[in-house]
Amino acid sequence: MSAAAADGASAVAVIGGARASPLLLACEHAANHLPPAFGTLGLADGELKRHIAWDPGALPVAEGIARRLDATLIASTVSRLVVDCNRPLDAPDLIAELSETTPIPGNVGLSEGERRRRVDLAWRPFHETVERLIDQRLAQGRPLCMVTIHSFTPTWKGVARPWHVGVIHDADERMSAPLIAGLCAEGGLVVGDNQPYSPADRVYFTLERHARPRGLPCAMIEIRNDLIADAAGQDAWAERLARLLAPIVADMSVAARPTERVRHA
Ligand SMILES: [Zn+2]
Repeated sequence: MSAAAADGASAVAVIGGARASPLLLACEHAANHLPPAFGTLGLADGELKRHIAWDPGALPVAEGIARRLDATLIASTVSRLVVDCNRPLDAPDLIAELSETTPIPGNVGLSEGERRRRVDLAWRPFHETVERLIDQRLAQGRPLCMVTIHSFTPTWKGVARPWHVGVIHDADERMSAPLIAGLCAEGGLVVGDNQPYSPADRVYFTLERHARPRGLPCAMIEIRNDLIADAAGQDAWAERLARLLAPIVADMSVAARPTERVRHA
């Protein structure tokens, strides 16, 4: 995937667009890339490598799952510091002036026009791409379910987080319940159920916008980023999550196609 969204390049990447799995993966915080016009937003270079700019490790894990399950992956190619694709347009942290404890100078006091420009640059293309892919597949009568892949920092505002992985969900637990059960059965993992975040934190936005209104089974996965800091960790987590998701996705496909279920019964 190219480091895109620079001066007209795409702000969203579709990886494996023709793949056959009912699973559609999304990674909203895949990149820490700032298009040149933004400079460094007033931050030191080192800050742009931290979790405040992106979800370190999330993209390679999502790519590894997508490859193993023959699933399509949609990833933003622009840092969440420009505009956060996983927030509603009225969220106070859509364009964060403060991330954890780090002020973002280039995000302070933006005009309405500048806010709109950022939404049009990265937020809108991401969501239009998700919507187009979902609509195409539903129009073809294909079953569909959706999972988003994120990572979280081991320590936030000085507090250590005990979870290795968290599954975020709302009242529709068709995917999250078996996924949490599968992760717990792995042994040795501290599994968060709506930890370290929950939909009440307004972090469930992509799924609330696209999957829930269409009745699509969905879940959000958060992996602690120190576990996926290198290729070995990323590969191990992609392998584990692909193995756990495979039968869940197969079940969702059957559930979404009642006529086929009858035929094969
Ligand atoms: Zn994230």
